[in-house]
Amino acid sequence: FAQATSVIVLGAGASGIFAAKQLKAAGIDVTILEARPDAIGGRMHKVEFPPKSGRFVELGANWIEGLGSNITNPVLPLVQKWGVNFKPTDFTNTTYRSASGSFDQSVFQDRLAAFSAITEMTSELSDKRMAADALDISLRAGYRMAGWYPKDEIDYAIEWNTFDYEQAETPDDFIMDKPAEFGCGYGSNCLKLNKTVSEIRWAVGNDGVSALDLPVSRQSPVKVTCKDGSVYTADYVISSFSLGVLQNVDVKFAPTLPDWKIQSIHSFHMAAYTKIFISFPSKFWTDNTEFIWYGATRRGEFTNWQVFDAAPYKEYFKGEHVLLCTVTDQVAFRIERQSDEQTKAELVQVLKNMYGPKVPNASAILVPRWNSDPLFRGSFTNWPIGMIKEEFDNLVAPINRLWFTGEHTSLEYFGYVHGAILAGTKTGDDVVKCIKNGCPKYPYHPVIH
Ligand code: FAD
Repeated sequence: FAQATSVIVLGAGASGIFAAKQLKAAGIDVTILEARPDAIGGRMHKVEFPPKSGRFVELGANWIEGLGSNITNPVLPLVQKWGVNFKPTDFTNTTYRSASGSFDQSVFQDRLAAFSAITEMTSELSDKRMAADALDISLRAGYRMAGWYPKDEIDYAIEWNTFDYEQAETPDDFIMDKPAEFGCGYGSNCLKLNKTVSEIRWAVGNDGVSALDLPVSRQSPVKVTCKDGSVYTADYVISSFSLGVLQNVDVKFAPTLPDWKIQSIHSFHMAAYTKIFISFPSKFWTDNTEFIWYGATRRGEFTNWQVFDAAPYKEYFKGEHVLLCTVTDQVAFRIERQSDEQTKAELVQVLKNMYGPKVPNASAILVPRWNSDPLFRGSFTNWPIGMIKEEFDNLVAPINRLWFTGEHTSLEYFGYVHGAILAGTKTGDDVVKCIKNGCPKYPYHPVIH
């Protein structure tokens, strides 16, 4: 193959871009096919809100995760290089409000501190369990073992805001132990926007028949067909489509993927995390904290409010009165199915519970629909309880000329932008090695029962 080898990268999110960067640096001919007509970045996507205000809100990733721990997050040097303002999140900068108005804030702060101690204990317990190679249990079990028995709406607000608000699932569905313990400055026409891929013909023999069992060298190039009828061929293809896209039928693989791959794709979770932006003609809330947490009677309806005319967004949103309410899991699915007007009415009612009947009607609402969008089909991945490393190996394993990348293929940082960047970089490097030094036989495990 040497220098003439070509690779198609499917998708221009963080992982696809970083995979392409590695290939390009190695002198390989790369083409990126991206469905969006006017944007790269995938699950990072900003939109003007309120309409015609000249202000932009981020519909997808906005936290640089893991700073302050011992991980090296590759997003950090990027934001420093481009002079992006950022500051640590401080949940003590929060007001708690019950359904019937305000509440004694010192009680809330004491409970928050108590929960923080519980999460420390849970983490220590998890370290011990992993050292002993213990079986996977739910985080809920871990919380209980550390002494956490939520008893009222304040406790549930704290639990939701510190857990569901980040992971988009409940502690009941989430693993306690960390899976990591197992074990264009591109050429000018390298990026093709407005190319929605409909079929990936990834294993074709020289005679045109299915070539699953032929060695790579005896197969003809992969063929990618787009909805507009255009066809691209290359020696290799890297899919960076989200796990949600792979779990649906928006893109056809021909021939059908092997059973071990299909099982792994369907075994992981694609979580639902939705950021609802709502604006008002005037400020009616009396709190000046960045966050307001609501003591919801139904889990997650509507527990977390971020205030955009408080620090640190105050200057940027000057003159606008915008709140961001985040919903997850079943509530996020429900909100996507109903009209924006219904959602607006529900949110305004909750604000009335907190601040009284004088809350004005909202002037605008923005409800992203990541879960029903065929380009994403969800927000980010989580590992279900009981997941095993072999299943993850199968999720990542290439099949002949077809490779997989994306946040879901990062063992340690799945779900995050830095997971996507690290995974894309690794996949790009692996494909370069495969092209330059010959492709090793990648391990996969027969269907795991
Ligand atoms: P994607 O960004 O999904 O890239 C895949 C690309 O493929 C997309 O550009 C898509 O348009 C394209 N595509 C899909 N189908 C087709 C097709 N048929 N044809 C052509 N192109 C196609 N992470 C954090 O680190 N911090 C956060 O605060 C954070 N918050 C988040 C909040 C929300 C609401 C969401 C949705 C995600 C959040 N994440 C966060 C997760 C983070 O955004 C993702 O992990 C990361 O951006 C995924 O990058 P990726 O390259 O793996 O996939």
